Amino acid sequence: MTTAAPSRTDAFYDRAPYAEGFDIGYPQENLEGEMYKYRCLSCKRLTTDINGRLENHAEDCAYRLLRQAQR
Ligand SMILES: [Zn+2]
Repeated sequence: MTTAAPSRTDAFYDRAPYAEGFDIGYPQENLEGEMYKYRCLSCKRLTTDINGRLENHAEDCAYRLLRQAQR
């Protein structure tokens, strides 16, 4: 007889793993002539460079400052 706890294979989906640092809710704009490239509307950094991390925005990015003020 085994007393193993039930597996929690669904644990990863209970909440986002990077709920604190992962942030893709910033305003974005499409690069002219680059159909699949987007950048932050405030600091103009590419979404592929930001990679969902608030600290990858420019230090004076309006969105980054706004988000940091909300913490
Ligand atoms: Zn930004």
